[in-house]
Amino acid sequence: MKLARRVRDLSGEGAFDLLARVQKLEAQGRDIVSFAIGEPDFDTEKHVKEAAVAAIRGGLTHYTPTAGTARFREAVVRFLKRERGLDIDASRVVVTPGVKPVLFCAILSCVDQGDEVIVPSPGFPAYESLVRYAGGIPVALPLREERDFVVDPDELESLVTERTSMIIVNSPHNPTGSVLPRETLERLAAVAEKNDLWVVSDEVYSSMVYEGGFVSALSIPALAERAIIVDGFSKTFAMTGWRLGYGVMPESLVASFSMLLTNSVSCTAAFTQEAGIAALEGSQEGVAAMTASYRRRRDLLVSGLNSLPGVSCRMPRGAFYAFANVTGACAALGLPSARELQGRLLEEAGVAVLARNCFGRPCPGEAGQYVRFCYATSEGRIGEGLERLRTFFASAS
Ligand code: PLP
Repeated sequence: MKLARRVRDLSGEGAFDLLARVQKLEAQGRDIVSFAIGEPDFDTEKHVKEAAVAAIRGGLTHYTPTAGTARFREAVVRFLKRERGLDIDASRVVVTPGVKPVLFCAILSCVDQGDEVIVPSPGFPAYESLVRYAGGIPVALPLREERDFVVDPDELESLVTERTSMIIVNSPHNPTGSVLPRETLERLAAVAEKNDLWVVSDEVYSSMVYEGGFVSALSIPALAERAIIVDGFSKTFAMTGWRLGYGVMPESLVASFSMLLTNSVSCTAAFTQEAGIAALEGSQEGVAAMTASYRRRRDLLVSGLNSLPGVSCRMPRGAFYAFANVTGACAALGLPSARELQGRLLEEAGVAVLARNCFGRPCPGEAGQYVRFCYATSEGRIGEGLERLRTFFASAS
């Protein structure tokens, strides 16, 4: 049977493909140290689970308004005021089942056939895929190692044409762990204002910044009417399986955004919204403890990686990813790219990582080879993984 053309424009995620492969190997009895899928290894906190259970018992098992309950939207407003000093009206907040639907609705609402959208490269693969699905053209903005993978505002400006309609940014960044400083966001805002562009700011790792603090695009006045903030509970509150996210957007976008939700999911589950309120309003000590633990793991992993032959790794400032340069290791092993290294590490060393190609096509002139490590795993497993890598590189080269 014939499939619609638009689904052929979608692409998957290397992380989920690799997860399936890792689980297959584990089912065969192999022990794999996985640095692959980006999800917290912590359990969702007890007070959050209890809020959901109480909500189910209390009968919150029906539809809610598409954009979310007033209670949820107001809790987001209070959270943004308390944590970031922002004054946002609740009418600008829309709840979604997971963070990805915010990206989906934002891109489908704002990108027309033939529009160009500037996306970070390397970057979260859904950006490119969704832009293509919407009929747009993704334009890669290279994030360069020598700039600690931080956006170069001059290079960004040079990519803008009369067909550009949107810029997508992600800070802290998946897969490099880079964090955008305020000056860079201000320069980006000026480019967006001058060229009348939407800015999608994916802030899903906002709680995980280890140096210098987090700057939300919403705190840049020039972005107030053009930024769409993408955030949620998956990473900050270790709630990947709950599917709960939210967007904060200009009033003018809320109706079309909500219309897409009405036509696809109707609304987000009532009891997960209650769990979200408990996460936002409850003690933030658990979040701080997780962040402190990620920082220790980052330090352990990055210093270990830098001691391996043919591997070097910049210190990431946020999220829970390290993006290691493995150009030397690939050359020593006679491998054409990090993709082959990913395969060898999995099969021979029992270590799962994701190669550069899982985060968009390499940019023209990009010579280095890279793999991403997610360090949301215990210090013991990180140590074990590093040991396996050391043994592999020693025996293979
Ligand atoms: N944005 C970025 C940058 C991510 O890394 C992820 C998940 O890995 C998401 C969005 C999607 O989050 P969710 O699983 O809540 O849909």
